[in-house]
Amino acid sequence: MTVSTLCIPPDRLWRRLMQLAEIGQLGRSGVNRQALTALDLEAKQWLVAWARTRGLAVSTDAIGNLFMRRQGRVAAAFPVALGSHLDTEPTGGRFDGAYGVVAAMELLDALDEHAVETDRPIELTVWTNEEGCRFLPGCMGSKAYAKPDLLTAMLQSSDATGVTVREALEAHSDGLPDLPLRPLGQPFAAYLEAHIEQGPVLERGNFAIAAVSGVQGRRLYEVSFQGVSGHAGTVPHPLRHDALQRSLPFLQALYDRAADDQDIRITPGRLVLEPNSPSVIPSRLTLTLDIRHPSNIELAEISTWLRSLVPSGSLASVTIEEIDRCDAATFDRYLTEVARLACARLGGSVRPLVSGASHDAHALASFCPTTMIFARCQGGISHHEDEYASPEDLAAGATALGACLMAASRVQAVGEVAGRKGAIGP
Ligand SMILES: [Zn+2]
Repeated sequence: MTVSTLCIPPDRLWRRLMQLAEIGQLGRSGVNRQALTALDLEAKQWLVAWARTRGLAVSTDAIGNLFMRRQGRVAAAFPVALGSHLDTEPTGGRFDGAYGVVAAMELLDALDEHAVETDRPIELTVWTNEEGCRFLPGCMGSKAYAKPDLLTAMLQSSDATGVTVREALEAHSDGLPDLPLRPLGQPFAAYLEAHIEQGPVLERGNFAIAAVSGVQGRRLYEVSFQGVSGHAGTVPHPLRHDALQRSLPFLQALYDRAADDQDIRITPGRLVLEPNSPSVIPSRLTLTLDIRHPSNIELAEISTWLRSLVPSGSLASVTIEEIDRCDAATFDRYLTEVARLACARLGGSVRPLVSGASHDAHALASFCPTTMIFARCQGGISHHEDEYASPEDLAAGATALGACLMAASRVQAVGEVAGRKGAIGP
């Protein structure tokens, strides 16, 4: 039997989410289930028990990602992967990550219940340490999978108590014995992820769900303005070199640009004023500047523009240094169009969103054709006990993801085995 749509009802999806939220429950409705802890392991054991009842082939890899595979008609075809993460922030909610995993469970169950045989194998994936709150970097599992060269450094990353990822993984694998180990970087035909939006855009637009066209890029700068300190009472203003005053035209230009361009996000996050004393003229202001945009070309232009804001005469007293960067990702056009049409059909947004936060899909976007679906979350609140999304919205998102799954799971006539980027296309 083949079907073009899998309709996911809300009840069981919701029940499963609430069951999962009991593992690491914090207060009334929060969750604290940090990466590679005993609770994270318990959540994985819960999922593996389900996979075994479904007859899925479960495996793991060197960074502790989990894979649950449902065979397809063409056994040699690259699988379609779908999933998310089970770890949370210390003050996390019930939906971030867990939703993507449970939506994938529902879709695999729906395939069985409708006796659908897909061309490609389907793999439910759980990525290790997406949050990055216990071990850096975040999106650890998906990054290592897409770029196995990163593994060695990641295994040495340690938490605040000195436990390394390598040690935590050993304890983890004792709790999940007999799982075959597979290499990192095995090709996928596509990767699909459902997630709560974690922002207020869908709620403000009164949409339940939306396709996601990509993830914005980020540049982090440290900017410092040098002045000369002096007595607050004795130095007349025309003779002052006040570092804070020197920064004002620069900061105003940033806010003006942010007001003009709805795609840009500019945040002066940390300001350090020296000597920071009530009666001393500031001699130095150092600030971090977090700038995000969906276009890497724009981000490069912004970098040049920032420097142009500094009057040439004062170059010596102003420094702008890029201290971190993460490039923007654009999701696969075909899959995102499938997602967009499915969302529009289900009463969601006709316009895809750009994700403001990073996700495992961000790391996988350069590895294989990738897309995401967002579900509305109340008040845009996330990483918080009050994180909430309705059963109906979550089910609609899973149904839209199912449309992507059915499109991606078809083997194209030509080009299946060509390269690791898979062979998804219209
Ligand atoms: Zn997440």
